[in-house]
Amino acid sequence: MDTHNIALLEGREGQVYEKRQDGPEVEIACDKTSLSGSVSQRACVFCGSRVVLYPVADAIHIVHGPIGCAAYTWDIRGAVSSGPELHRLSFSTDLQEMDVIYGGEKKLYRSLVELIDQYQPKAAFIYSTCIIGLIGDDIEAVCKKVAKEKGIPVMPVHSEGFKGTKKDGYKAACSALMKLIGTGSTEGISNYSINILGEFNLAGEAWIIREYYEKMGIQVVATMTGDGRIDDIRRSHGATLNVVQCSGSMTTLARDMEEKYGIPYIRVSYFGFEDMSKSLYDVAALFPDRPEIMERAKEIVRDEIRKYYPEMQKFKAALTGKKAAIYVGGAFKTFSLIKALRTVGMSVVLAGSQTGNKDDYRRLKEMCDEGTVIVDDSNPVELSKFVLEKEADLLIGGVKERPIAFKLGVGFCDHNHERKIPLAGFVGMYNFAKEVYESVMSPVWQFAPRKGGLK
Ligand code: SF4
Repeated sequence: MDTHNIALLEGREGQVYEKRQDGPEVEIACDKTSLSGSVSQRACVFCGSRVVLYPVADAIHIVHGPIGCAAYTWDIRGAVSSGPELHRLSFSTDLQEMDVIYGGEKKLYRSLVELIDQYQPKAAFIYSTCIIGLIGDDIEAVCKKVAKEKGIPVMPVHSEGFKGTKKDGYKAACSALMKLIGTGSTEGISNYSINILGEFNLAGEAWIIREYYEKMGIQVVATMTGDGRIDDIRRSHGATLNVVQCSGSMTTLARDMEEKYGIPYIRVSYFGFEDMSKSLYDVAALFPDRPEIMERAKEIVRDEIRKYYPEMQKFKAALTGKKAAIYVGGAFKTFSLIKALRTVGMSVVLAGSQTGNKDDYRRLKEMCDEGTVIVDDSNPVELSKFVLEKEADLLIGGVKERPIAFKLGVGFCDHNHERKIPLAGFVGMYNFAKEVYESVMSPVWQFAPRKGGLK
């Protein structure tokens, strides 16, 4: 297959960059709406807000719009909960033609009242979809009315799908959370406390991370939003520090909380031994009057690495020299993945994200090896082209990238919503290496047209 004949779509050139020592010093274009017709891998504004708020488990989530929007994001993260599981029910007002003509406010009101009576949730989130932006339902007014009648917070999420990029959806979700924060009591919150932001507990990661911090002697007030609880979010303004992973989705919230409540924040990543250790040390360093917190962080790092190091060496021996392509949501995750892959001897030949900003891409350019292709807001044709041209052995992505990998005959690792194995923390790095090893080295490849038939 001659992939050099696959051309980039006109208008996409600025968002694709190949790192070359003798190449031009250009800035990667990003933070823009997707090119029409490119079949972007990126999701809409509504989906962006949905993925952030979905794991709040004791609230009801109502998608105000046609059933297709709800189906698109139904149980989108599969995030696990240690208690209630209301978040997995995914309600919709199922707007029909007559609702579009006469308005959907009454239907929304009736749905809200019925669902609150039936499920007794702690709060409700109402998501606006494209059609709501077009017909102009006043969901703010409906939410206010129901909140007053039922005595629980009812938050409109202004996430009309067409009004920007997935990142605007993150912002809409953060605005909804900000309405909750500051409405609960901060009694009993210690000075050595944090909120964990941007961890969504897809496969129990929030529990792993929480346990590390608690072992260090730090109180975790709220996780937003993995295994999230409304009452914890309402009192989260009492925490001393916000620790932000998935910076693309939650930095807005961290900044707003800093501005309104004076809570500082740091960016961390829980993927890979290196970044996981740094996340513990960075938090401990912010509590210098309690040196035992740092001591415990060191103990955790030492014990955990000792536990997994021997097995990791076996994976490394098999994987050294193999090549990976990465295409994920946030760029911060890409940084950690590059480091994690190097730990097991693999290089990265394609690195991209849906929501990276200029700073992220500058850093990515610095980190990547010569010849690596860096892409923003990519599409299936581009990803296929570069995976084949660069002869990647593995594609790391989400549900939309999985079929691309398998059709091309390369290994795949799900680093997004669908996975059921935790990839965060020290144990997560072990799980990640094992999954990469099993996929790349699988005997199945001897029966498949490897790498699109190239080999
Ligand atoms: S909100 Fe709009 S773009 Fe998003 S799923 Fe619904 S119709 Fe599609």
